[in-house]
Amino acid sequence: MRIDLHAHSNISDGTEPPAELVASAARAGLDVVALTDHDTTDGWAEASAAAQQHGVALVPGMEISCRTREGISVHLLSYLHDPTHPGLLEEITKARDARLSRAERMVALLSEDYPLNWDDVTQHLAPGATIGRPHIADALVAAGIVADRTEAFATILTSHSRYYVQHYAADPALAVELVRAAGGVSVFAHPVARARGRVVGEHTFEEMIDAGLGGVEVWHRDNPQEGREFLLSLAARHELIVTGSSDYHGAGKPNLLGENLTAPEQLARIEEQASGSVVRA
Ligand code: AMP
Ligand code: FE
Ligand code: FE
Ligand code: ZN
Repeated sequence: MRIDLHAHSNISDGTEPPAELVASAARAGLDVVALTDHDTTDGWAEASAAAQQHGVALVPGMEISCRTREGISVHLLSYLHDPTHPGLLEEITKARDARLSRAERMVALLSEDYPLNWDDVTQHLAPGATIGRPHIADALVAAGIVADRTEAFATILTSHSRYYVQHYAADPALAVELVRAAGGVSVFAHPVARARGRVVGEHTFEEMIDAGLGGVEVWHRDNPQEGREFLLSLAARHELIVTGSSDYHGAGKPNLLGENLTAPEQLARIEEQASGSVVRA
């Protein structure tokens, strides 16, 4: 069983529409793929239909933008939640709205120094999709300012950049509680990915675990080895689910579907704990 529990479509910052992503998963030899777009479940229906067609099982999911009191960014994966749960919907709507005004402010700052306007950015955004820095990166690539998204993130779009603007995001413990309330299972995404920015301290893990955290994403290319060992011992102590995944973004990132996998018994634990929706096969 080849199970990859973290992938993005163009409903957020991946480059393939949900059906194409599922086709790519089948081609990559996956038996199970999770669709985890940032702060939206709008791709679930299209991905479900494609999953049936391609004989791949789809785990409907989402990646929720969070930020701690100290200002550290946390990504929380949610699996098999009820997409209509009002409390969870309210939080992701706030995050999506905040992402939009934040992107507008970043583009306004960028346009002072680069030939770039808002239309250049929204051209790279599917209708209704969650906007993020990758879409601004696409506009910088199209304008010939950088070669690809990776270069954009290494230079103009880093969190240390003068063009960087923060956006509202839920407290991670609150997001964990909302996922549980919506019948879902939460998994802390790439928790020790230091290259992406500051990572949380043990007190944040404790708060999230006390709030009902389901698991931790251990096998992810951005987690360094010593961090993986820490996560495995934390998971053993608190009986957390452990997952592995690619964080595929289509052509937007080098990450390849199936480059990390989740064990079937770990997916079984997710399914046992979830009551908000089901795996579509
Ligand atoms: P944002 O959430 O708008 O601050 O942008 C962060 C998102 O950009 C993450 O969710 C990643 O998917 C994506 N990202 C981060 N680093 C890179 C990179 N080097 N190349 C492409 N995409 C990236
Ligand atoms: Fe992303
Ligand atoms: Fe993430
Ligand atoms: Zn992701």
